[in-house]
Amino acid sequence: MGKTLFDSPSFANHEGVHAFHDEKTGLKAIVAVHSTARGPAVGGTRMWNYASSAEALEDVLRLSKGMSYKNAVADLEMGGGKSVIIGDSRTQKSPELFRAFGRALNGLGGNYYAAEDVGVSVEDIAEARKATEYVLGLKDGPEASGDPSPVTAEGVYRSTLAVARRLWKQDDLTGLTIAVQGVGHVGGYLADKLHKAGAKLIMTDVNTAVLAEVAARTDAEIVAPDAIYDVKADIYAPCALGATLNLQTLDRITAKAVVGAANNQLATPDIGQILFERGVLYAPDYVVNGGGIINVASEMNARQSGGAYDASWVERKLSRLMDTFEEILERSVSENKPTHLIADAIAEARIKAAGDLKAELLKAA
Ligand code: NAD
Repeated sequence: MGKTLFDSPSFANHEGVHAFHDEKTGLKAIVAVHSTARGPAVGGTRMWNYASSAEALEDVLRLSKGMSYKNAVADLEMGGGKSVIIGDSRTQKSPELFRAFGRALNGLGGNYYAAEDVGVSVEDIAEARKATEYVLGLKDGPEASGDPSPVTAEGVYRSTLAVARRLWKQDDLTGLTIAVQGVGHVGGYLADKLHKAGAKLIMTDVNTAVLAEVAARTDAEIVAPDAIYDVKADIYAPCALGATLNLQTLDRITAKAVVGAANNQLATPDIGQILFERGVLYAPDYVVNGGGIINVASEMNARQSGGAYDASWVERKLSRLMDTFEEILERSVSENKPTHLIADAIAEARIKAAGDLKAELLKAA
């Protein structure tokens, strides 16, 4: 027998992997539920023109495991899952397709909640909502959590301050140079905050109109997209693509710390080890960018209780996440281990504890 799904390293003990096809609308979707130990699995839906269904499967498995870790480290009562819709988001979207996706989610009975991700907009989620209650990230109504980007940016900003306190023994960012890659939703809000706290900014984006606007209001220096790795900066803030910390860029980046919003910044885990050995402080991406999912979690709470989005709850959770980030920095020093491994250990322990408790309760019932 050839290799099966169960042999794939990305399968990583997923609780369930579900494939859906709707002939009428052309929907082809895969939902991966990595863990519901801490609660219903929550994670975005990505619409992407994958070269093959095997590539889509690999992506959804990797991303859903990541969501288990992100949700656990943010101490949310949510498990990890993700979904992908195979197709070109510019040409193959229709309201019917997203309603068909909503109906597919009904089949999972609330084991998984979808939300926006690359290629899927608030409008698409609103369309799916007409067919299912198992979507989050709504724009309207008392429970709606709206755009998560400002909360994500606030978490990345506070993490940057924590790093400045630790490395430069200062409470603001005066005198520090920060290289910001990508000034879209999160990067734009982040740049404003960094500028206000006294940092000198060097920035890039492939969208030159957005770049010019953000640079003008933050007195930033603009560089070409590929040049961002070579600038002389104290902190590198990746806020665009994943995997920008790789064997090609490592020798070009001279910053003493990496703190940014992008998901999956380490091309491979061994890059985290190399950064550690070189004395570069890497702020684990899924810890510092957890503000966005915390914001979405408030919508989940409101849905479950019949209440409303609660900004003060979001603030309490974000503040607790920042305490966890400080703990990671502390333990990295005291245990002489890279930050990404400490973050993984915290997430894994929380997932395991919740799973053990669930098993105990089932046994007792
Ligand atoms: P966005 O699409 O609004 O912004 C990304 C920006 O990066 C865009 O302006 C784009 O033009 C630019 N970009 C793309 N390729 C580039 C390149 N090669 N060089 C320079 N710039 C480039 O997305 P966003 O919502 O701001 O998210 C940014 C990152 O943060 C993503 O990796 C996302 O997965 C992650 N993230 C976002 C949130 C959130 O709340 N939006 C939460 C967690 C993680």
